[in-house]
Amino acid sequence: MSAGVASDRRSAPRKHDTSGGPRSDVGGRTGAPSPTRASDRKGASDSSLDSFDAVVVGAGVIGAAIALELGRRGRRVLCVDKLPAAGFGSTVNSCAIVRFTYSTYTGVAMAYEGLQYWLDWPAYLEAPDELGLIEYRQCGMAALKDPGGHYLKVLPHFDAIGVAYEEWSTDELVRRMPILDAGVFGPPKRPDDPDFWADPTEQLPGAVFTPEAGYVSDPQLTTHNLQRAAEATGAEFRFATAVTAISHAGGRVTGVTLDGDTAVAAPVVVNVAGPHSYLINRMAGVYESMNIKTRALRHEVHHAPGPAGFDYERDGFNIADDDNGIYFRPETGNHILVGSTDPRCDPQDWVDPDQFDQRLSAEQWEAQMLRLNRRLPSLGVPHERKGVVDLYDVSDDWIPVYDRTDLDGFYVAIGTSGNQFKNAGVAGHCMAELIEAVDAGHDHDADPLVVEGRYTGLPIDMGNFSRNREVNPDSSMSVHG
Ligand SMILES: Cc1cc2nc3c(=O)[nH]c(=O)nc-3n(C[C@H](O)[C@H](O)[C@H](O)COP(=O)(O)OP(=O)(O)OC[C@H]3O[C@@H](n4cnc5c(N)ncnc54)[C@H](O)[C@@H]3O)c2cc1C
Repeated sequence: MSAGVASDRRSAPRKHDTSGGPRSDVGGRTGAPSPTRASDRKGASDSSLDSFDAVVVGAGVIGAAIALELGRRGRRVLCVDKLPAAGFGSTVNSCAIVRFTYSTYTGVAMAYEGLQYWLDWPAYLEAPDELGLIEYRQCGMAALKDPGGHYLKVLPHFDAIGVAYEEWSTDELVRRMPILDAGVFGPPKRPDDPDFWADPTEQLPGAVFTPEAGYVSDPQLTTHNLQRAAEATGAEFRFATAVTAISHAGGRVTGVTLDGDTAVAAPVVVNVAGPHSYLINRMAGVYESMNIKTRALRHEVHHAPGPAGFDYERDGFNIADDDNGIYFRPETGNHILVGSTDPRCDPQDWVDPDQFDQRLSAEQWEAQMLRLNRRLPSLGVPHERKGVVDLYDVSDDWIPVYDRTDLDGFYVAIGTSGNQFKNAGVAGHCMAELIEAVDAGHDHDADPLVVEGRYTGLPIDMGNFSRNREVNPDSSMSVHG
């Protein structure tokens, strides 16, 4: 074990830390680990290495997966991140829910293929990690049959793809989750709405349960696992190092500048900068040429202790509750994580990713806690506000952009819209396949590449993720994708 890296993990703020320490109300990135491993250090490489086959901008879960997949295809990869460790950007605060309830065939296919990576993670990685490997917790997920009917969009895709699911009646739902109130409360409201506490006049018709859904135990460790696997292919990671310019000549990318003074040559550069993606696109001069844009949306996830008399960590499962505008899942220590499905009544807080309020807002905490209480009435309202604040990198239609750009050699894996953690493995594979094909002369814009899922064999039509698409009319226009 590398003692230096182990201490990184101890000193880094932990996601969903419910220990009640002094910063327990604020998410991620406030403390800096002190990397000591040679490849983790700023400027650790010697100057002869300042030329790579590909530079990946961003070492979040998607960036690290792309670095791994490009490394496996024989490329010498540099993955750069301005933060001090892998998965320290928006990934660190991800709920890491794995579900398949997307609005489009390709969305469902990608998520179902993505699941397979988690099911045998060690075999996928083919590399050890001195910090240990993540676990996939397959607790299942119930999508409540809300009057808005998102589940109706999803079921035909489940049938076409072969996603296992059960349709539960109201009685079955309450039998499986006895602490749940199956009343219809929606459409979602703010607590100051006089109708917020109105008694339900009817019951939800039930739920769609997907037993293979679940969540990943630790998103930051996931990214570290990918980093180590990528390093085993020869990839290099540099932290605390910012990409400050993208160089190009004759319509082709030629490399990047690090920290304003270090030039790195590379024929391929991939923008995986999460909520900073639009800034990197501007640096490369491709922002205006893309039809689909991305921007940073502030988002809060809150923590509540599980209700008395019910072990939510052991017996609970993920629940998508569009009727209340929330989703929730079990968390270590018999806690519940609750996030928002961005109901229309909630304000959207578009922010500068370098300057946003990282404190929990009392209003949003109260809204989410009270919505959760309506669904789980025995929960009560916790005495202490706990949770995390982070950013989604939201595209115009909440579907990612996994594509080339008008600058040859410059690729984007952006606009992950709060819903792509689960797809890290498959996104890495798809991006590497795309880069290989385009490099080999394939005209992806004219003839979109269809990638075959390596586990399920499902076709993933990369045209769905084009930068030049129109807003997808089938999208939920929310975190559901
Ligand atoms: C609160 C929250 C909950 C979520 N819940 C879920 C969920 O339950 N399920 C799910 O599937 N998805 C979920 N997501 C979405 C998922 O976490 C993201 O889609 C995913 O983590 C994005 O990974 P990434 O690698 O693209 O970006 P990031 O993790 O944001 O990484 C981008 C990296 O780029 C770096 N960077 C930026 N600019 C520069 C620069 N100039 N130079 C160098 N480095 C730079 C940043 O420092 C950062 O580390 C959630 C997201 C959030 C915020």
